[in-house]
Amino acid sequence: MAHIAFIGLGHMGAPMAANLVKAGFQVKGFDLLPQLRDTAACAGVNVGSSARETVIGASVVITMLPAGEHVISVYDEVLSVADQDTLFIDCSTISVEESRIAADNAKTLGKRALDAPVSGGVVGAEKAKLTFMVGGEITDFNEALPILQAMGARVVHCGGSGLGQAAKVCNNMILGVSQIAVAEAFVLGEKLGLSHQALYDVASNASGQCWALTTNCPVPGPVQSSPANNDYQPGFSSALMAKDLGLAKQAVELSGARVTLGLYAQEMYAEFAKKGGANLDFSAIISSMRDQNGSQEN
Ligand code: NAD
Repeated sequence: MAHIAFIGLGHMGAPMAANLVKAGFQVKGFDLLPQLRDTAACAGVNVGSSARETVIGASVVITMLPAGEHVISVYDEVLSVADQDTLFIDCSTISVEESRIAADNAKTLGKRALDAPVSGGVVGAEKAKLTFMVGGEITDFNEALPILQAMGARVVHCGGSGLGQAAKVCNNMILGVSQIAVAEAFVLGEKLGLSHQALYDVASNASGQCWALTTNCPVPGPVQSSPANNDYQPGFSSALMAKDLGLAKQAVELSGARVTLGLYAQEMYAEFAKKGGANLDFSAIISSMRDQNGSQEN
């Protein structure tokens, strides 16, 4: 079985590494934060003393880091000491461009590289129910498949290098825009005297049906498990949505695509995060619409 090095043992990385251990893989992990190394050790991860030391002898290196700059810098740090032909799998959410730079750097030094960002959040990571969107060579994808399946419920090969990240930004652009559309509909309904439950009962069974309504309903009541019933505790934070739509914006600029709503949504979440909503679920964006309308929840 593959000997896996896992760099970045935060909210997502820790449960992902623990699931690899549960599946029988030998996992050596590293994080800059000592307390996270201790937690990982309790889950059966063999803890390294540095990123460089952790990758020595590994056949697969997985990274789960905050942003592209961290991925490129960790690759710079470890590529020269990793075995020839080692398979690097970056699961972080980073830009398409940075993802391709990291993969090219790996290939230049004789390694192989996949981008494999995820959706499903911390709960998906804990339950091994993540969706992986993978970019890179199909032979490398096939080799990575049993490893990714130990951490996820669905693994999709999206095409060549960077296209896993492309799928991730496109999906999150749909999500960010549709959450705003659902929130605006509830605010309009409030203005018209329509109850939340009546709008929900109609739209959830009509053409307005979508995840942002039926799972992440932005008003308390209709969907018991939605963050709106728990003071908008995430879930998926507005800060992370703003980050992901920032990556979508970079992809729009890189590709020259003409996009309107996705860019507008990026500005709205960034503004909401800046004004105190950063740690709230992104469905809490409904409060900034009520502010604009001078209205209150009814
Ligand atoms: P996190 O901040 O909890 O974890 C990242 C970890 O990387 C931190 O513990 C940090 O100490 C560590 N790190 C940073 N630089 C390092 C280095 N040089 N060497 C070793 N460790 C280093 O973040 P997270 O929530 O686990 O998210 C990780 C990635 O997954 C991000 O790119 C995020 O956008 C993406 N993501 C997060 C979620 C979510 O719900 N949290 C969902 C999907 C995707």
